[in-house]
Amino acid sequence: MTGMCSHNAQLRDASQLHFPSPAMIGGPSVSSERARPLIAMENISKTYTTTLGARVKALEGVDFTISDGEFISIVGPSGCGKSTLLRMIAGLSGVSSGRLTVDGTPVTGPSADVGIVFQHPTLLPWMTVRENIRLPLRVGAYPPIHQSRVDALLSMVGLAPFANAYPYELSGGMQQRAAICRALVRNPKVLLLDEPFGALDALTREHMNIEMQKIWLSNRNTVLLVTHSISEAIFLGDRVIVMSPRPGRVICDRRIELERPRNFKDTVVDPRYLRLTADVRDLLTQGAGE
Ligand code: ADP
Repeated sequence: MTGMCSHNAQLRDASQLHFPSPAMIGGPSVSSERARPLIAMENISKTYTTTLGARVKALEGVDFTISDGEFISIVGPSGCGKSTLLRMIAGLSGVSSGRLTVDGTPVTGPSADVGIVFQHPTLLPWMTVRENIRLPLRVGAYPPIHQSRVDALLSMVGLAPFANAYPYELSGGMQQRAAICRALVRNPKVLLLDEPFGALDALTREHMNIEMQKIWLSNRNTVLLVTHSISEAIFLGDRVIVMSPRPGRVICDRRIELERPRNFKDTVVDPRYLRLTADVRDLLTQGAGE
């Protein structure tokens, strides 16, 4: 399905855009064609029943796979089921129909293999940064890890000097970096990011995009990022998945063949980036009926 855009006949898929192959451009060799799928969604639908008894169809016929180590960006209009999709992968909500597997096993509940970060960092205010990051290790029967993992995470995101600070002593971006460390502390195979930089100012957000790329390049977890920012989606992703208005369906799944590590200065003027940005924007505005 990668490279397909079903919503707009005028849009060309990745194969028609004549991008050089990753081997030719020296980019990452992440390829869903070659790597085994870590997450598989087969014809997934989700219908909620509200407290007043109304039925809300959030997702319909969602069908795609994600390879081990891929960075997937998901964009779509508000209410199209993006958070629902992440919550189902995290085992926080069940599918209504279809089949969802992580590492070949149907998802039946939360797992140490999946970490999630929300828009707000939700750090516990009475705990230090280090204590917040260690928190998931105290829950459930997970094998103890050495202090060195927490220290390594703190160093990786530049928070080592703030290990013993309290959340209120950190900026919004620093708090979100601590929340990402907390999600990574059990070294999950999958990291789910639900609009994690949406509450940050534009410059901090750009900085966090660079940080996120660094974290992913050193950890190589499989990442699913839900974002309202088309530029963030394309800057960070190996693929961008575009969803229709509710009930959410995948209307476009495009590979982003830009070399890594990416930087904003070069990326935002790259013709491939500009074309993809325009294509995704077209899909979203047409889906919104504009
Ligand atoms: P998005 O993340 O794309 O904004 P959501 O996944 O949060 O969308 O929601 C998709 C749709 O499902 C929305 O119409 C929302 O109102 C509805 N919805 C989400 N959670 C619930 C729930 N627990 N009960 C009823 N409806 C819900």
